[in-house]
Amino acid sequence: MSERRALGIDIGGTKIAVAAVDGVGRIHAQTSLATEAEQGFGRAVERMVTAGDEVLAQAGWNRRELCGVGVGCAGPVSPQRGIIDNPYTLPTWSNCDIVTPLRTALGKPAYLENDADSAALGEWFAGAARGASRVVMLTLGTGVGGGVVLEGQVYRGTQGEHPELGHMPIAQFAVDARSEAACYCGTRGCLEAIASGTAVAEAGKPFGFADSRAVLAAFGDGDSNAAAIIERVQRALDMATWTILHTFMPEVIVLGGGLGDAQFELWLPAMEACTARATMVPAGGVRIVKAELGNDAGQVGAASLAFGGKC
Ligand SMILES: [Zn+2]
Repeated sequence: MSERRALGIDIGGTKIAVAAVDGVGRIHAQTSLATEAEQGFGRAVERMVTAGDEVLAQAGWNRRELCGVGVGCAGPVSPQRGIIDNPYTLPTWSNCDIVTPLRTALGKPAYLENDADSAALGEWFAGAARGASRVVMLTLGTGVGGGVVLEGQVYRGTQGEHPELGHMPIAQFAVDARSEAACYCGTRGCLEAIASGTAVAEAGKPFGFADSRAVLAAFGDGDSNAAAIIERVQRALDMATWTILHTFMPEVIVLGGGLGDAQFELWLPAMEACTARATMVPAGGVRIVKAELGNDAGQVGAASLAFGGKC
């Protein structure tokens, strides 16, 4: 039995990453290209196909051997219809069918998933949550994203929408009742408005910190303003963990994203203390783990979509 092979593509606002991934989630070759969304969707698809052929050649594979190609893309996307509809961070990409042109070009099945969900799938398929049947992944990056994987399937809400874990309320109840923490979703005090890289940078501005990195560096140097900002994130993650535990009762919570995994040790104690306090959650029943695949998670998860069914 030969190994299964697929292409995994991860589309972000600035960069598209393409990988040749085998059936156990190993990347054999990889490349990336600037997204240049404003150059048009058709042009981007052509460049993705070219990049796909490049990584296949590097891996010593060919199109005929592929189970298919999977795409993870910054949402809104419709996995069922194979449509990317995200003119917000991918200018001009309104109502774009990505599945049909990729299937036509490569002659293989094509799949689409939201980027947070494909990262969660990647961590389940070959990363920190390997083998777990109930996984919640929280991604702290520019924003806060989340994905839920149950028995190897992405959990979907109404009309195919995925849960928006970044918009669970935090500040109204727990962190600071007077918090400004205005969120673009129309409310205040969402997890994303406190624990994202953007929110940390915003909170640091009044103290002269240039960005979230500067806040973290100052925290390391013992700065009390930076410490207050970090503590706020820790309390927000404590509250978010409480909500995730009682809503999903997951086996594993994976923390990923630039701010989530690079600074994992800053957040883990608060999340574990929360878990220990939760009397309704089976003792020892939940693991909180650091994402293992970093920026590769989306490509691995997207590729894994092609390994279902007959392949
Ligand atoms: Zn919000």
